[in-house]
Amino acid sequence: MVSGKEPIHGRNLLLTFDDGFTSNRVVAEEVLNPMGIQALFFAVSGLVGITDRLEARRLIAERIYPGTRAEELPAHWGNMGWGDLEALLEQGHAIGCHTGTHARLSGVDSPDGLEREITSSADTLEQRLGVSIDHFSYTFGNLASFSEEALAVARRRFRFIYSGLRGDNAQGGSPFALRRDSAEFQDEFSNYTVFPNKLLGAFLEGAADAHYAPSRARLDAWNLRE
Ligand SMILES: [Zn+2]
Repeated sequence: MVSGKEPIHGRNLLLTFDDGFTSNRVVAEEVLNPMGIQALFFAVSGLVGITDRLEARRLIAERIYPGTRAEELPAHWGNMGWGDLEALLEQGHAIGCHTGTHARLSGVDSPDGLEREITSSADTLEQRLGVSIDHFSYTFGNLASFSEEALAVARRRFRFIYSGLRGDNAQGGSPFALRRDSAEFQDEFSNYTVFPNKLLGAFLEGAADAHYAPSRARLDAWNLRE
């Protein structure tokens, strides 16, 4: 639709899930599947292969919630394994790449490092799952966590790149600068604010679009410079 190949009719919503937590599969099977909703799940390739629970929770704490420790995470938090991703694919969902180690890409200085986090991680998912990995969401979502160099690497590997910048995706927009409205899970983990549904509804209606406009404009400019 964004590329203009399909006309946009009415309002359309794409659900995406970042990070590959165990709850993703639960939500898919208990909530989405009964309603016939297929979603896109972004996996961190280096996290999927970890079978030791404590090791996975350490990576989640260090890399996804910097400043926290594994023992502070809610007890039920963990990572999906290869079998979980295979199950999601069998159920009709799609898998995308969310880097190799959940690195903040603006902090990755070397071209080799960017290739590892962006290209190799997607290749790993592709080889292990046997499906093409065309979607990429960069970590943390804000523009300060991404870079023009990382975008250039990702553009060579993926068909679609997802930001965490709020806003709608209108026809004519770049498939490498997709906007997303984030919703935090309802959880006892207090570091993050849980939005009431009405506030999330307001975001979806564009209440915060103006706030994110400068970041979106910069991301679009990076894409135009390619
Ligand atoms: Zn993430």
